[in-house]
Amino acid sequence: MAHVFTPATTHDWRIPLGALLLGLLAFYLLALDQGLLLSLVQGNVAFDQNLVHEITHDARHAAGFPCH
Ligand SMILES: [Zn+2]
Repeated sequence: MAHVFTPATTHDWRIPLGALLLGLLAFYLLALDQGLLLSLVQGNVAFDQNLVHEITHDARHAAGFPCH
């Protein structure tokens, strides 16, 4: 009788879902955020500082995303 190896994680949906959510978060941070994310902890100051945008600014231009 042949034994076929079937890993227990074959139907584990948590890994691709986690990768998808992480990718969406990275995409949001790189391409879209204009201060909204940090405003959750900083309040309206985050929209003035726009810290995430400034950090990712050169990468946005290099990737071709419009930012200003
Ligand atoms: Zn720019």
